Amino acid sequence: MNPLHVGIAGAGLAGRSLAWRLLRAGCRVSLFGARQRGALDTASMTAAAMLSPLAELAVSDEAVFALGRRSMALWPRWIDELAEGGSAPVYFRQQGTLVVAHAPDQSSLDHFSRLLHHKLPATCQAQVQKLDAAALAAKEPALAGRFNGGLFLESEGQLANDQWMAALALEIDRLGGAWHEGRAVERVEEGCIVCADGTHVVDVAVDARGVGSQAQWPASNPLRGVRGEVLRVECPGVDLQRPVRLMHPRYALYVAPRPGHQFVVGATELESEDTGPVTLRSMLELGSALYSLHPAFGEARILRLSAALRPALDDHRPAVALQGGVWHINGLYRHGYLCAPALVDELAHRLLGIGRTEAT
Ligand SMILES: Cc1cc2nc3c(=O)[nH]c(=O)nc-3n(C[C@H](O)[C@H](O)[C@H](O)COP(=O)(O)OP(=O)(O)OC[C@H]3O[C@@H](n4cnc5c(N)ncnc54)[C@H](O)[C@@H]3O)c2cc1C
Repeated sequence: MNPLHVGIAGAGLAGRSLAWRLLRAGCRVSLFGARQRGALDTASMTAAAMLSPLAELAVSDEAVFALGRRSMALWPRWIDELAEGGSAPVYFRQQGTLVVAHAPDQSSLDHFSRLLHHKLPATCQAQVQKLDAAALAAKEPALAGRFNGGLFLESEGQLANDQWMAALALEIDRLGGAWHEGRAVERVEEGCIVCADGTHVVDVAVDARGVGSQAQWPASNPLRGVRGEVLRVECPGVDLQRPVRLMHPRYALYVAPRPGHQFVVGATELESEDTGPVTLRSMLELGSALYSLHPAFGEARILRLSAALRPALDDHRPAVALQGGVWHINGLYRHGYLCAPALVDELAHRLLGIGRTEAT
């Protein structure tokens, strides 16, 4: 029996993760990416990769929350399974998130807290805990004396997306995936991936090109890009164990710690498909909010300024859909890392179901 041959257009988080899961399940996989594997200008490489089902509920809905909760249970297994192939361990932490506000902005924090309690199912309410100044300082000594209190969002996490994407690439190679790097896909059609150099015939074609597959989405359900910008800094003077979100009436900020005293600081959210470099205004807003979180960040070294487009559908929910004989995984918007394991496993199960049906 020949293994199912799946062609995947797009080697971002969705395409790469799906390729890895299908290879593990015994499929033959051909992966097509417009860029080289280490390119930094995609949403997947730009993201802060916070895994925040609770905090994100404030700006999403129960569907994203449910996918996020399922994925939070899967992430530790995914991290372990990826390491089985011998790649370096991926930085992954699940120690909750802190949400704080400066005294003049307390009303933003209060509103956030009310919104969460309003949207959260009764069984999850206890995962959002109010902290006084002492309890906050006990969780994050670096913030001692800087805030009157805050919120603790239990069990949220973060991972180093650059490590995750690099480890996936190694594992796809090790498992024998055929990776066509630097190969832009012109069209994805039923049973084939069309590139400038010709048509690649496969059993099943998947479009995971993020904003790159915009033309394949109908006007009744358009796919758009939402620009996001982040700073990556290195600051040996500050030690944080977990992501911190700073509420502000104009620009909310988050700081996601990474190994080696590095921090990803984000993010702007602009209704624009501009893919140009980070603007001075965004850099100043993110930088000043960061400095206000802790003055030691004033000495932080800026390692990188990155901008990318989040692929979004109008309902802001991720979609796994079969359209015209092509499977799509898209619309991951600002929740790609949060939802990837549940979404990708769902699509992998559906594709493996096709393989089993064809074999019988
Ligand atoms: C600033 C920012 C911060 C974020 N923070 C978080 C966060 O904290 N938590 C979270 O869960 N999510 C976060 N996200 C969202 C997350 O990054 C995205 O949801 C996710 O990366 C989308 O993955 P994707 O694979 O669908 O798309 P992409 O990352 O866009 O990947 C698509 C891939 O397809 C390739 N491609 C495009 N066109 C073609 C073509 N014609 N032929 C071949 N290949 C093509 C691209 O080169 C790319 O590699 C953030 C995003 C941004 C921008």
